[in-house]
Amino acid sequence: MARPAVSIAPAYGMAPAALLRRGSGDGAAPFRLVKRVGETLTRWMPAKLMWSRLKAPVVSFTFDDFPKSAWTVAGPILAQHGARATYYTAGSRCGRVADGVRQYDRDDLAAVAGAGHEIGCHGFSHVDPSTLSDAELDADAQRNLAFLRETLGDVSLSSFAYPNGEVTPRTKLHYAGAFPTSRGIHPGVNAGMIDLAQLRTVSLSNCEREPGSLQRWVEQARERNGWIIFVTHDVTERPEYWGCTPKMLDAALTESRRAGLAILPVRSALARACS
Ligand SMILES: [Zn+2]
Repeated sequence: MARPAVSIAPAYGMAPAALLRRGSGDGAAPFRLVKRVGETLTRWMPAKLMWSRLKAPVVSFTFDDFPKSAWTVAGPILAQHGARATYYTAGSRCGRVADGVRQYDRDDLAAVAGAGHEIGCHGFSHVDPSTLSDAELDADAQRNLAFLRETLGDVSLSSFAYPNGEVTPRTKLHYAGAFPTSRGIHPGVNAGMIDLAQLRTVSLSNCEREPGSLQRWVEQARERNGWIIFVTHDVTERPEYWGCTPKMLDAALTESRRAGLAILPVRSALARACS
């Protein structure tokens, strides 16, 4: 059984400035090899198993980081479908251009939350969690919560997504205890026995590159009473590698509705899977 949604408040002191200076985990070849083996192991290392009680299929739409277009372009499309999503927000991305992509600002963040979308945690610094100690991971999450509360007030966070999908056995166990759910990037539909510490996802950018795959994923969720978690980043006519076009987002929403999937933010989908 999943834990109830919890707050990781009260926020305490800011994380060390060094957090923001750390890289994304690039290092010597032996280190990269060990890390890669660890990431592979996490697929087969359940940390928070739960038998899904879904009696009908559900789908969540999630945006990571998040780029400004995930709100200014995707927001109206979601509204047309009456859908609410989950925005996994990294505080350090606010007001910046990251990897050539304009990111959200505080007004966007307030508007997203005001429209009823879920705000999730993506860490503050958006660094590879394996480069941080457990204490630093806690400090980074607390810093993100403190940042979000400056704009959103007494918000609590129950959904986490691994920055860049990077996860190791240690960090997986750590976040299993810190948040009700953690979302990875391994592809799949969550059905039957699901691992809340590394929920599977379906990339909308991959759906765009592989014609017909969107319909296959949705059909699989429908047949298994499963939970699809779509993930994307920017939503533009010429998206970055991990983004998608407005047409793709609209198609995924339309296909989900057509197949009878309930569209819910991650937190709400979890509640349904537990009940
Ligand atoms: Zn990210």
